[in-house]
Amino acid sequence: MASEKKTKGELLSEKILSNKKNAVLRLTEKQIAEADSFCEGYKEFMNTAKIEREAVIEAVRLAKDAGFKEYVKGKKYKAGEKFYFVNRGKAVILGIIGKEPLENGIRLAAAHIDSPRLDLKQNPLYEDKELCLFKTHYYGGIKKYQWTAIPMALHGVIIKAGGEKVCVNIGEDESDPVLCVTDILPHLAGEQMKRNLAQGIKGEELNLLIGSRPFKDDKVSKKVKLNIMCILNEKYGVTEDDLVSAELEAVPAFKACDVGFDRSMVGAYGHDDKVCAYTALRAILDCKAPKKTCLTCLTDKEETGSDGNTGLNSSYLKYFICDLAKTYGFEGRNVISASECLSADVNAAFDPTFPENYELRNSSQINYGVCVTKFTGARGKSGTSDASAEFVSRIRDLLDSNDVIWQTGELGKVDGGGGGTVAQYIANLDMDVIDVGVPVLSMHAPFEIVSKIDTFMAYKAFKVFFAD
Ligand code: MN
Ligand code: MN
Repeated sequence: MASEKKTKGELLSEKILSNKKNAVLRLTEKQIAEADSFCEGYKEFMNTAKIEREAVIEAVRLAKDAGFKEYVKGKKYKAGEKFYFVNRGKAVILGIIGKEPLENGIRLAAAHIDSPRLDLKQNPLYEDKELCLFKTHYYGGIKKYQWTAIPMALHGVIIKAGGEKVCVNIGEDESDPVLCVTDILPHLAGEQMKRNLAQGIKGEELNLLIGSRPFKDDKVSKKVKLNIMCILNEKYGVTEDDLVSAELEAVPAFKACDVGFDRSMVGAYGHDDKVCAYTALRAILDCKAPKKTCLTCLTDKEETGSDGNTGLNSSYLKYFICDLAKTYGFEGRNVISASECLSADVNAAFDPTFPENYELRNSSQINYGVCVTKFTGARGKSGTSDASAEFVSRIRDLLDSNDVIWQTGELGKVDGGGGGTVAQYIANLDMDVIDVGVPVLSMHAPFEIVSKIDTFMAYKAFKVFFAD
């Protein structure tokens, strides 16, 4: 046995050097099974909540099941009472009143429920060479070439003249048709292949093919277009002019599924940021009698920079907290200043196929747990809130003392590009905030990948934050 005695160097290494290990090697089989089973619920959520409006509907449905009631402005809620507030159908705040006075601050988790996609233009419908197509305008940062030649579904709303709302969801059911952006065959792509990757497919080439059969009437010119519009008129009662007041979003028609022979990962459209939205939602639904008042905010418009009245660069969250504070006789700004936030957004997981884009020592890795990101931004930390060392320490202690496996990661190499989250807008309200989220492979692609264990660890992180 003496030969197994650890050397002084070995003992010191354990004690004073960083020894982060793959989460699979740190968890029991039972714990791993718990993470896997959590992700079954996540996959269901992904299949029903592909766009922000659907995510709000699904969040409200789950919240009602968990005893949440629609928020009543001015009502003095008692400790343990739960409510939800919907902002214009595209963002939602869910809350539970804590035992401590609101003045002691709120625990806030904020994630976004919009994802990159192809929005229809306001005059989308046209016929060309007896094919019918929709013009699109992409939403968020996409590599345009990835969005061709894959099955697409159409989600959203049409508000008819007079205000009647029609919900659209086509391409998800097994029996539904799908739509598709076509691409030129390689045999004839000589000129296209000379373009650089960013120009490989141009914005105006992202046209969705939606039909090919003409209406049988020699008196009309655009026969295919008329035939398609007849189908839409019959199904939804809309005319072409109604499309001007619509929000129709083309998204990949894939279902969420397991990835890998070991089923260790989930592949889906829109992990960014529904993987953090779902985990933050589940954390508040499962939250019981918290000390501090807890809020989960599922917001819109992050992918276009958080501007707009459903994005977090607007005042809706601030107004909500101020209204709540007023009910108890507190100044909203004092409540905000005493609050803490986990900005729940994804991080770029290290991809061994593209090692040159990452700085390995500061990249998140699949299966190393939820990722804590001190700062985001671009170049010299432009456009970031940069959490204080004090707040990083506080969150680190919280996660460690509750067995939440976590890692830290920056978004790629220093001069490699960059990106932002909602953290800066929350920090600008005078709140302590840090990014905490799940590492993603192929971020912003039609099909993104996350680890089941990392997803479960995000849920645990939000849960212990609320319980703290
Ligand atoms: Mn995001
Ligand atoms: Mn994003």
